[in-house]
Amino acid sequence: MSDRAGGRVILVLNAGSSSIKFCVFRLDGRELSRDLRGQVAGLATAAKFVMRRGETLIEDRPLAQGPISHAGALEQLLDAIEVHLGGARIVGVGHRVVHGGLEFMVPTVLNEEVLHRLDRYVPLAPLHQPHNLAAIRAMLERLPGTPEFACFDTAFHRTIPEVAQLFALPPRFAAAGIRRYGFHGLSYEYIASRLPALDARAASGRTVVFHLGNGASMCAMAGGRSVATTMGFTAVDGLPMGTRCGSLDPGVVLFLMDELALGPREIERLIYHESGLLGMSGVSSDVRDLLASDAPAAATALDVFGYRAGRELGSLAAALGGLDAIVFTAGIGENQPEIRARICRAAEWLGIELDAVANARHGPRISTAASHVAAYVVPTDEESMIARHVQGMLVAA
Ligand code: ADP
Repeated sequence: MSDRAGGRVILVLNAGSSSIKFCVFRLDGRELSRDLRGQVAGLATAAKFVMRRGETLIEDRPLAQGPISHAGALEQLLDAIEVHLGGARIVGVGHRVVHGGLEFMVPTVLNEEVLHRLDRYVPLAPLHQPHNLAAIRAMLERLPGTPEFACFDTAFHRTIPEVAQLFALPPRFAAAGIRRYGFHGLSYEYIASRLPALDARAASGRTVVFHLGNGASMCAMAGGRSVATTMGFTAVDGLPMGTRCGSLDPGVVLFLMDELALGPREIERLIYHESGLLGMSGVSSDVRDLLASDAPAAATALDVFGYRAGRELGSLAAALGGLDAIVFTAGIGENQPEIRARICRAAEWLGIELDAVANARHGPRISTAASHVAAYVVPTDEESMIARHVQGMLVAA
C-alpha cells in the first residue's frame, strides 16, 4: 500500500433504496484513475459489504444483522474505505441524483438550500430521490467542510426541445411539472464524451444510444446533445425493462383502477416491479436466463423487448431526421450479442448492416464497412462521468 500513500481522492456515491454503490478515484494532477469500488447491499434486510481494488476482492463481509439506515451504512462504509486509502484525503464527493427537474441543468454544489429544493422532486421520483437525498444528508454531516456535488440523471436531457418534452395535456399540467424529463443522463453524457474519439460522424451527426440494463432507455443525440429520449415523466416509460413495463396506454391504468380495483401502490408494484421481462416471462428479469430458457413465455418477452427497441429506434430516427450511428451500452447492450443482433436486423431498413463476427466479440464497431449507419458497443461509466464533474467543479471553485 506504500505506493498509494497520501494523495487526493474523489468519492462517488450512488444511493438506492436497498443499496449504496461507491467508487473512489485517485486524482493525480489532471489524471483520474479508479482505485476502489464496491457496494453495501441489502440495507433493508441484512447489509453485506463488498469492495474491490481493480478485480481483487478486498472486503466481503456482513455489515449488519438487521435493517440499517443509509446514514448507518455510510458511516461504516467510510470507515472501511479510509482503511484502504493509505492516508489519501477525500477532496470531493459526487452524488448521483435521479431528478433535478428543469432547474438543475449542471452539477451543483450541495448545501441545505439546494437540498431543500431537491426535496421538491421527491414526488416525481419517489423510488429513488428520497434515498439519494438521505445519503447526501448523512454525508454532509459526516464530512463537513468537504465539497459535495449533485450530478443529475435528468440534466443531459435539458437540451431536448420543448415540443419533445410536452405531453398533449392542458398547459397547466406542464406548468405543474408534468412533462418528459428523461433519465440515464450521466450514462448518455459519458457515451457522448467518447464519440469524438470513436467516430467523428457519430459525434457531430445523428446518433441513437441504447442504454440497455435492468433499467433501459434510448437517447437521440444530434451533435452529442440529447434531442429526444424514451423515458418520460418517470423512469417507467419507454422500453420494457427488467421489471418495468415501459410505455403503457394510460387507459390501462384507469381500467386497473376501475375494473380490477387495484390501488395506486398495487399499480406501482405491478408496473415497476412485476412487469417487463420478469412479468412477461414469469422466469426472470435477466436476459441471460431468458436466452437459456425453453419456456415459450421467455421467448415472447425477448421478442417484445426487441420489437419495442426497434420501434423506438424508428421514432428516434424520425426525431433526428435521419441516422448516422447507433451505440449499445449497459449490461445487455455491452454483453448480449444476440439482443444487439435482433435489434440491428430489425433496423436493416434504416441502413444498418451487422458484422456478425465483430458483434460476437463485442466490437467496438459491430457494423460492416459498407453499412450506411455505423453501429458500436461502448461500455458506459457513469461513475467516472460523476468523478469528472466533481474534478471540474473543484478546479472551478
Ligand atoms: P443495472 O441497470 O441494474 O445497472 P445492468 O446494466 O447490469 O443493470 O444490466 C442487467 C442486464 O444486463 C441483465 O439482463 C443481464 O442479462 C445483462 N448482463 C449484465 N452483465 C452481463 C454479462 N456479463 N453477460 C451477459 N449479460 C449481462
